Order: sequence, then C-alpha cells, then structure tokens
Amino acid sequence: MNIEKNSVVMLRYCLRDDAGEVIDDTMKDEPIALLHGHGNIMPGLEKALSGRAAGDEFDVIVEPVDGYGLRKDDQIQRLSKKYFPDAKRLKPGMHTVVQTKEGQRQVTVHKVGGKVIDVDLNHPLAGQRLHFQLNIVDVREATESELAHGHAHADGQDHH
Ligand code: ZN
Repeated sequence: MNIEKNSVVMLRYCLRDDAGEVIDDTMKDEPIALLHGHGNIMPGLEKALSGRAAGDEFDVIVEPVDGYGLRKDDQIQRLSKKYFPDAKRLKPGMHTVVQTKEGQRQVTVHKVGGKVIDVDLNHPLAGQRLHFQLNIVDVREATESELAHGHAHADGQDHH
C-alpha cells in the first residue's frame, strides 16, 4: 500500500546539513514508526512521504519553513540555573534541554552567568535546510488504538 493519512510508516533516515555533515543517522537502527497525516513530523517530510511505498529509497530536501522554522532574532531568554539539570557543564554554543510548561524544549546556550543562563530558544536546526536520505521499510494501516492515541506504536501493540 502507498502512504496516506492513517498509514503507519516504518522508516530509517540519514539527515545532513547543507555542508553534507551528518546530523542524525538511523540507517543501522530499528526503523522508526510514524503515524502519517497527524502532524507528528515536520510538514516538509510528511508531504514528501505521501504516496511512497515500502522499499522506496529517496532523498528529500526540506526548506527551513517546512522544517524547524526560520531563525528569529528576539529569542534570547534569561533563565535561572535551576531549570538546567546539567547547568555545571554548560558553555556557550552547547545544546541542552529546558523544562517549560509546554514540555521539553531544545535550546542553545548563549551566555553563562553566576545564577542565570541566557539561552537561545531557536531550535538548533532552525533556519537550516535539511537533507534527508529516506528508506521506507514498511507501510501498514494504523490500528484503532494508534488512531485513538494519535501516534504509532512500534510493534503495533498499545502498551507503552
Ligand atoms: Zn499510544
């Protein structure tokens, strides 16, 4: 079957930046399960997967606006060190995660003070063109519980 809304896609990918540097490579890992058509992944990738089938291998370039968004200038925020589990080891330019009301958020350390850390809230990959190499391993219909949960279950089971 071809990938459409409510398909569960099993895939592997390799992600590179414009310079060809590998950002993330899952080609040797267990495939990742994704429920298609529910906005679980970036729009550019979801669009590119539609209509593909198991066994397909292809490359996709996702522009920033369809990926992690454009970089915004006014995204520096000063936060107390208590929000950073790893505050002691942080240095400018490092990526870390802070807890927000909306859940975890990836940030880049801008400046480290005595009690506070200034972070850049832009996603580390904001503004970057993303080069995906994709391998569609399998495509199946979603189960009822996957549709109810709004996400895929790797083994088709609903305990997680
Ligand atoms: Zn679930």
